[in-house]
Amino acid sequence: MDLARTDFYLDGRWVTASGGETIPVHNPATEEVIAAVPAGTAADVDRAVAAARAAFDGWAATPPAERAAYLDRLHAALSARADEIARTVALELGAPLKLATRVQAALPLTVLHSYVELAAHPATEETVGNSTVVREPVGVVGAITPWNYPLHQVVAKLAPALAAGCTVVLKPSELTPLVSYLLFDAIHEAGLPPGVVNLVTGTGPVVGEAIAAHPDVDMVSFTGSTATGRRISHLAADRIARVALELGGKSANVVLDDADLVTAVKVGVGNAFLNSGQTCTAWTRMLVHRSRYDEALELAAKVAAGYRLGDPFDPATRLGPLVSAAQRERVRGHVTRGLADGGRLVAGGPDAPVPDRGWYVAPTVIADVDPDSALAQEEVFGPVLAVIPVDDDDHAVAVANNSRYGLAGAVWSADEERAVRVARRMRTGAVDVNGAPFNPLAPFGGYKQSGIGRELGRHGLAEFLQTKSIQR
Ligand code: NAD
Repeated sequence: MDLARTDFYLDGRWVTASGGETIPVHNPATEEVIAAVPAGTAADVDRAVAAARAAFDGWAATPPAERAAYLDRLHAALSARADEIARTVALELGAPLKLATRVQAALPLTVLHSYVELAAHPATEETVGNSTVVREPVGVVGAITPWNYPLHQVVAKLAPALAAGCTVVLKPSELTPLVSYLLFDAIHEAGLPPGVVNLVTGTGPVVGEAIAAHPDVDMVSFTGSTATGRRISHLAADRIARVALELGGKSANVVLDDADLVTAVKVGVGNAFLNSGQTCTAWTRMLVHRSRYDEALELAAKVAAGYRLGDPFDPATRLGPLVSAAQRERVRGHVTRGLADGGRLVAGGPDAPVPDRGWYVAPTVIADVDPDSALAQEEVFGPVLAVIPVDDDDHAVAVANNSRYGLAGAVWSADEERAVRVARRMRTGAVDVNGAPFNPLAPFGGYKQSGIGRELGRHGLAEFLQTKSIQR
């Protein structure tokens, strides 16, 4: 597999970057440089936005059924690359190959497929009195994405934007840009019209800011940290451009006293450690009724001890490294502080063994975490679970809602109606009851500082449409 890429995808062609600078890409499991991609400039963004602007009228006027057919061809071209996608994400992110195959490669294909259907009927017109209300594409979309689900987060923007009739300029994370090149190979093969989708790689402060501040970008769709989301909002505000923000989380997993504890804890720990804990929706706070608390801790420690760290390409590996040395240092700092703030170590921790090479952190469970402490309030983005005892359902809801975030969450109870009552009181964008399966058509997004707007399904499509009323 030749990983190095030297070009951008602009106006339907692979073209040389304007500057000569490159950004190295690492394998987090070996710490080695495995490839390099071009470091884009504001001039590259100008070219990409000009191509997207020029393509917009034609793409917006393309009949929905034709746009759906393009997405279907893209789905086929991407499906043919599923194995290569999984191996690439395993290499540049360090995700265990099994996870990379089942989630990192499969999820974007599921989401893309859902938009093949939705693209055929993107907007319904309605009549209100003497008005016809129509929905139209927003325009040129700047998409800026992170590294933790590097293809899914791109597809979750690109597919609905294209289905709506928008054109796109993408800047993927500089830590995991390689899988986006595979996507653009597929886009080229699918024959999307020139300028409809464009790729510029580079850093956030240079390429990301140039996109967010560009006068010809009508909407910025961003996934990443809350701090960067705030910066992008400020830049977009200057020209009143629309923003969609998918940001951080500190989601609560509420385990009620009548829950099936073995399942709740096993699934809960698995969720917190998924993708080495680098998941924005991760249930990183486990709130357990006091009557089942000790039992839950014992189970959590056992589950955590079963997570084998190692080479992402070894089928026995359940937990890969973190994406970067900086991320590992941040996570270690959170663990040290959590213990200094009174947390009790139940599994893992700073002295637990990890492979010599690679940016690994041991799967860690910390009990008795003060709900107001940093470990309960800050997003860690590593395999670190904070466990908090609660007295009753009201207390569980109060602790769950004691967060500036509100992205996801869970409730476990033998009484589903009781669980749903708790779920309704949680100030968060999604709640899973008793380990319900993921629904790719359900709206996904945050309350509070977890974001603005929704992705996936029809709600995700609506983000890229604006509304006009015609009176007669
Ligand atoms: P990040 O905010 O550092 O980077 C995300 C993207 O923004 C990258 O492409 C980066 O290059 C770019 N960027 C950085 N600074 C920028 C700037 N000043 N202007 C414009 N663009 C800029 O986030 P990350 O470290 O890549 O990802 C981890 C964070 O993302 C976590 O906090 C996580 O919770 C969050 N996240 C949220 C979701 C969600 O859907 N809600 C999904 C994944 C990750």
